[in-house]
Amino acid sequence: MSVSQNLEKLKASVPEDVVVVAVSKTKPDDMIMEAYDSGHKIFGENKVQDLVAKYERLPKDIEWHMIGHLQRNKVKYIAPFVSLIHGVDSLKLLKEINKQGKKEKRVMNCLLQIKIAKEDSKFGLDAKEAENILTSGSLEDLNFVKICGLMGMATFTSDEDQIKKEFDYLSSTFRNFKLIDSSNSEMKILSMGMSGDYKIAIDCGSNMIRVGSSIFGERN
Ligand SMILES: *Cc1c(COP(=O)(O)O)cnc(C)c1O
Repeated sequence: MSVSQNLEKLKASVPEDVVVVAVSKTKPDDMIMEAYDSGHKIFGENKVQDLVAKYERLPKDIEWHMIGHLQRNKVKYIAPFVSLIHGVDSLKLLKEINKQGKKEKRVMNCLLQIKIAKEDSKFGLDAKEAENILTSGSLEDLNFVKICGLMGMATFTSDEDQIKKEFDYLSSTFRNFKLIDSSNSEMKILSMGMSGDYKIAIDCGSNMIRVGSSIFGERN
């Protein structure tokens, strides 16, 4: 099946209020353009260099999401155009994002990444650390940052009960954080679910899924 057919099939299988981020990492421009021409405008990349290169080459009305781990020294390259940063995992990073947002006169939309997987390799905050960021006075000074929600990645496993447990945990954390009244944050987006587990994620309350291989095919 073609990219546009895959996308159409995917969208038909998810509720309308779930945002699909088409993860185009490692994929060539012509595949992205096929999705774009079929009407899709939201794409995600996990490397700053690729994100910048694709932003420069491709249509300017694409909404680019940074979904990978972001190093502080690279924030400046994406600050002029990125529409959502999914992987914020420290206050230090948030401060740098604020600094670059201020330079660009743009409020930078961010998600806090929560570590929910059992694997050590996945980046992220634990819920307590995230809560500390939301309730610490520091956030109030970061007027060029807006925390819009949470992001998480489940353990890479075929054990669906395990995946469900992790997504349920993130979902309940999200609901709890909605009750925290803090400036520069408004919990609206719950970004969880990839090609292998987006159905479980949506059942657990996800409203943004990041799907790559089901749209563009397996990566090499
Ligand atoms: C690659 C990637 C995805 C998409 O993975 P697929 O399994 O290809 O759908 C989603 N989120 C993040 C953070 C990724 O790095």
